[in-house]
Amino acid sequence: MRIDIISAVPDLLTSPLSHSIIQRAQAKGLVELNIINLHDFGSGRYKQIDDYPFGGEAGMVIKCQPVFDAVKSLTDERHYDAIIYTSPDGEILDQPMANELSCLENIIILCGHYKGIDHRIREHLVTREISIGDYVLSGGELAAAVICDAVIRLIPGAMSDSASALSDCFQDGLLAPEVYTRPSDFNGWKVPEVLLSGDPKAIHAWQEQRAIERTRALRPQLLENQ
Ligand code: SAH
Repeated sequence: MRIDIISAVPDLLTSPLSHSIIQRAQAKGLVELNIINLHDFGSGRYKQIDDYPFGGEAGMVIKCQPVFDAVKSLTDERHYDAIIYTSPDGEILDQPMANELSCLENIIILCGHYKGIDHRIREHLVTREISIGDYVLSGGELAAAVICDAVIRLIPGAMSDSASALSDCFQDGLLAPEVYTRPSDFNGWKVPEVLLSGDPKAIHAWQEQRAIERTRALRPQLLENQ
């Protein structure tokens, strides 16, 4: 998979995308991540990428030209399955969407900034708009990092134990059961007995039961969707 992220503040993306599972997935060649600095496509002496909004509102708006040029520099080279704009009013990212995106070959993620982007980019260039939740961030970079993290960890081989991704929250429409590690007794707080039993069937049954109980207690609406 190849992900190209277009950003006005590329430094915001460097650290989140260069550690742990995402870093290893890149090292293994499972994903190629490219960060494109929108300022490289700006116009004039100051490489301008934004301008005042028509109508006189406060804030700056990212212009059409640098975005269309940046996207063209990518689409001239290869086909993209999706040109995604991170937007608070987009479809809300969830696990089924992450699963779906992880099956694509090439995607572009466009990060907005300031007051947003000229609406003509959304109408004529972007093919999908994704929000990471009902709140407003200063820019799309952290949202892009969240999307990349959720997607890349699902690519087969990205996690050392790929079965682990399948037992995470939401994968089967349920929350995940509790997890514990050594010691089995900490300050007198004991790990559930069954997990120490060495009986895989009993452990599995306990995990399934806890997944349902936790979902019922914490996210009952997930059970309604089943
Ligand atoms: N004026 C816009 C918000 C702009 S915030 C509005 O009210 O809708 C600046 C940029 O941050 C946006 O262009 C978008 O790319 C990004 N952003 C903000 N909140 C986000 C969210 N919840 N999910 C994804 N991207 C978001």
